Amino acid sequence: MNDEQIRAAAARITAAGDSQPRAARDPVNLPMIRNWIEAIDPGSDPDPDTAPPSMIQAWTMPGLHGARTGDDPLGQVNQVMDEAGFTSVVATNCDQSYPRYLKLGEHLTVRTRLLDVTGPKRTALGDGWFVTTRSSWFSGNELVATMDFRILKFKPREPASHTPPATGNPAGPMRPLVTPDTAFFWAGTAVGELRIQRCASCGALRHPPGPMCPACGQPADGGYVVAAGTGEVFSYVVHHHPPVPGKKLPMVVALVQLPEGVRMVGEMPGVRPDLVRIGLPVRVAFARVDDDLALPAWRPAEGMLPDRVIDVTPTFVISSALATRDFQDVHHDRELAVKRGSKDIFINILTTTGLVQRYVSAWAPDAVVRAVSIRLGVPCHAGETLTLSGQVTGDDGDEQVVAVTGRCSLGDHVTATVRIAR
Ligand code: ZN
Repeated sequence: MNDEQIRAAAARITAAGDSQPRAARDPVNLPMIRNWIEAIDPGSDPDPDTAPPSMIQAWTMPGLHGARTGDDPLGQVNQVMDEAGFTSVVATNCDQSYPRYLKLGEHLTVRTRLLDVTGPKRTALGDGWFVTTRSSWFSGNELVATMDFRILKFKPREPASHTPPATGNPAGPMRPLVTPDTAFFWAGTAVGELRIQRCASCGALRHPPGPMCPACGQPADGGYVVAAGTGEVFSYVVHHHPPVPGKKLPMVVALVQLPEGVRMVGEMPGVRPDLVRIGLPVRVAFARVDDDLALPAWRPAEGMLPDRVIDVTPTFVISSALATRDFQDVHHDRELAVKRGSKDIFINILTTTGLVQRYVSAWAPDAVVRAVSIRLGVPCHAGETLTLSGQVTGDDGDEQVVAVTGRCSLGDHVTATVRIAR
């Protein structure tokens, strides 16, 4: 099958429009919601009046023994792609929007159509086609949610490899050189203090620390003051290349002007480079590397969400996959996951979407989530730590836009945008 034939088949499937409505097995119900919350967001209200919006797909999942219906467009495209040799698949994007929240007892149907087939494209995984479907959920005749779901169907460069290559760097972070001059500084970061060297003779503050006061020439005597921990970006660079051990690129390194009068160089982890500007108010944070070392880092003073750190145990991967009614073996059977080219079982997409939505909802509990758009990166395997961080990137009074990143040791597992109404 050549490219033109693939395009013709795609056009035929697109023209057929929506599949027949497929009914959810069960109405929106509290037991499923409670299982989902218990797995994905333990500790939050287990008895909500409405369903978490990012649960939408779970209501109509086919189940353990379910199969695609004959008119399912994704099944049809997959068949065409498989015949053309594009046998491997990886999901790349999932954009959900929620016109309204679902109440207990509503019985949903879903219809799916093929939105777009683009290709062939050369990607890091191999040559392939991007396939986008749109699913629409209805309660009666009312549209209650939509989802655009994009996959890459590709010819693997290496047989039986479904795992995207690691983009992160497995080496640990570089450690600072601790000298007699700088020991007080690192002792400070270890206890959450940002310390500025102070000359006992003339009172001058200086950074970086040195053996001698440049103002009066007296030797350093170990004196310091503790900085307020605030500042503003005086200058910054976005580092794209070369690779830095233990760092995900690009990264922002800022020169921060402190109100105490000195400037410090520091990384701004988790911040979007395009949102950094000269004059941006920042606040220090301390990233603990191990028992001995914490590195100072700078974050925007406003609009940052507190990180959520998730211990991705095998139990977490499995229970969350099953709570979303995703029974694919790569999410619960380690041996099969390894056989399919993966390092271990890994988090499923419905869970990733749920984690992103709940992370923002926990920060803004009274806000209504209108949409969640996620872009998938590296897989997040059992045994990983997944750190979610977020930043408000837009606010027009009615709607806030929050950018969310979920990072594990291989790099970004997910980058997302969540739109909420206050
Ligand atoms: Zn001095």
